[in-house]
Amino acid sequence: MTALTNVHALVTGAGRGIGAAVAAALGAAGARVSLLGRTPATLQAMAAQLGGEPRALAIAADVSDAAAVEAAFGSARRHFGPVQILINNAGQAASAKFTDTDTALWNRIMAVNLTGTYLCSRAAVPDMLQAGFGRIVNIASIAGLRGGAYLSAYVASKHAVIGLTRSLALEYARRNITVNAVCPGYVDTDIVRDSIANIRAKTGRSEQEALAALTATNPQGRLITSEEVASAVMWLLQPGASSVNGQSIVISGGEVT
Ligand code: NAP
Repeated sequence: MTALTNVHALVTGAGRGIGAAVAAALGAAGARVSLLGRTPATLQAMAAQLGGEPRALAIAADVSDAAAVEAAFGSARRHFGPVQILINNAGQAASAKFTDTDTALWNRIMAVNLTGTYLCSRAAVPDMLQAGFGRIVNIASIAGLRGGAYLSAYVASKHAVIGLTRSLALEYARRNITVNAVCPGYVDTDIVRDSIANIRAKTGRSEQEALAALTATNPQGRLITSEEVASAVMWLLQPGASSVNGQSIVISGGEVT
């Protein structure tokens, strides 16, 4: 038995990258996990890895679609009961000059990173209030704590996620609900692989040079692993972290914002 045995946790963007690592860690700790994302095949593979329907449920939904989120939480609730832990991880990144950041790009990044976090939190909080227990962890970014050239939409969305984190933490502080953010630097996932390809295409640099550009700000000089991010998330879910609330925890090898 662990503190998370049979607790119902819902992870967004759970089919790959950081979300998959968090889902695996939750499953290993005995939680029942609802896996939400856009791609049924990867979610179903993850659910099978966690022990199938008694332990994990794959639910396809776009987090930026209010009706789809509501339906997804309905399915999760019918299967595993009220959602007690929510990991808002689904996200997209885009790099562009500010003058090339058109409203389509801006709206897409805001819709997924910010509105998705809002919609899923709004769906989960009533369950948490009813249960008298809740933990929300938002996967923000170090880009939520400082600016970044050519990343205006992404940076703005992640700053806003941190504002939402701080506000919900205060609003529910006396209801045994904590709301925190983790803020990784560059993590070894598809988002970073896409960034490396983008840098190579735009600058003609080699793969190693592009990687070096991304790891230069991390004092440890390397990419972070998804498992390291999952480990910080799991700590925030432990009873010993109950008084940690409204925080933005940087996971970036000593990088100071
Ligand atoms: P990733 O490997 O590209 O995975 C992104 C995940 O988000 C996928 O599971 C994807 O689902 C899901 N997703 C994207 N749009 C969605 C939507 N509209 N509705 C539902 N799910 C959606 O990226 P990652 O690196 O693991 O990123 C996870 C989170 O960490 C993001 O919020 C990102 O901003 C944050 N983060 C990443 C880094 C980094 O360097 N990698 C650093 C700091 C913060 P599908 O598989 O179905 O497409």
